[in-house]
Amino acid sequence: MAGSLTDALSPDVDTDLAHLERHVAPNYHPLPIVIAEAEGAWATDVHGRRYLDALAGYSALNFGHRHPDLIAAAKAQLDRLTLTARAFHNDQLGPFAQELAELSGLGSMLPMNTGAEGVETAIKLARRWGYRERGIADGEATIVVASENFHGRTTTIVSFSTDPSAREGFSPFTPGFRHVPFGDAQALEDAIDDTTAAVLLEPIQGEAGVIIPPDGYLTDVRRITEDRGVLFIADEIQSGLGRCGTTFACDREDVRPDVMILGKALGGGVLPISAVLADREIMDVFTPGSHGSTFGGNPLACAVARAVVALLATGEMQARGRTQGERLAAGLHAIDSPRVREVRTVGLWAGVELTDEVPARRVCERMLDLGVLAKDAHETTVRLAPPLTISDDEVDLLVRVVGEAITTA
Ligand SMILES: *Cc1c(COP(=O)(O)O)cnc(C)c1O
Repeated sequence: MAGSLTDALSPDVDTDLAHLERHVAPNYHPLPIVIAEAEGAWATDVHGRRYLDALAGYSALNFGHRHPDLIAAAKAQLDRLTLTARAFHNDQLGPFAQELAELSGLGSMLPMNTGAEGVETAIKLARRWGYRERGIADGEATIVVASENFHGRTTTIVSFSTDPSAREGFSPFTPGFRHVPFGDAQALEDAIDDTTAAVLLEPIQGEAGVIIPPDGYLTDVRRITEDRGVLFIADEIQSGLGRCGTTFACDREDVRPDVMILGKALGGGVLPISAVLADREIMDVFTPGSHGSTFGGNPLACAVARAVVALLATGEMQARGRTQGERLAAGLHAIDSPRVREVRTVGLWAGVELTDEVPARRVCERMLDLGVLAKDAHETTVRLAPPLTISDDEVDLLVRVVGEAITTA
């Protein structure tokens, strides 16, 4: 490992950054670090400096970098079969679907690649279901969504974003979406009418800054959608797969949505895979030719995702989300600074909301100086989502660095 790192060492990181800035599209504003290697909760830059990773690939790395079980599954599968396309069956897809059904309690799965594709798939599912099963007039289907949502970056998905920077210059937008404030069950109920096919929500809003709805909200949404005969679609792409200290964020209220979207950690940080889950009766609105993806359900991604499901099947990762999350929450709440407006935590997921005095970006830059990777959400929130495998000492280090960065940024 040391050898390969030396090979990758750049003589001058500034040259690297200049190259990156010249040839890579400017749709991100990364912190000034060039990562070359990583293992567990730690990333190493091209100079050999190590950083605690408290972003974990926006929760795509819930099990840490290069978890041995996931790398072993990928390597074994690389030696057998990587792609068939869905013109044929492959021997990983069936077992993966069955194991995921067992984990989720939803019997049928449609595999895609990225989270946004999963959301697009769920939208198509809901619309077709609405026309066929609910008798919505042709072309009239609507989906109720929350303000401040984040569901991805396609043209249809940004059509129902409320974030101007995600939308500006990208019109015309896809119609058929209706907004309600997140956390307000009455507003959600009022927004449902004869055109409504589904309600689409993040159980916890990640990109908005780890926004946790009032207790009982998901239960209310479940009751309302059931009463009114519309689908409840939970986007668990960031909240699911252990992050909240439970397998899914909806488990916190024992709520079973009709449709669930998974992504990010489903590929274990090794490769992209997403999935839409639903009961068979709902999923059956898809017919051959109505939807698909060349790479969706490829055996390499399925083999890694099976190893992810196996990691979650024991409950150990979810338990770590709870215990390490409690430790993180206790530490963050103890930070005594007038610059902290609010600390929100669920499982091993935290949003530290700052006052206007200091931009969250500057705190993240200061944390980088101090050896911890994190990313701001909007201007005011430092979002923390370290790997579930993080140790006690590493949680304590993270808390110390957050505290120092907030004070000294
Ligand atoms: C990241 C994310 C998406 C989009 O996933 P991509 O893989 O980036 O397309 C959708 N919904 C939620 C809640 C997310 O956090």
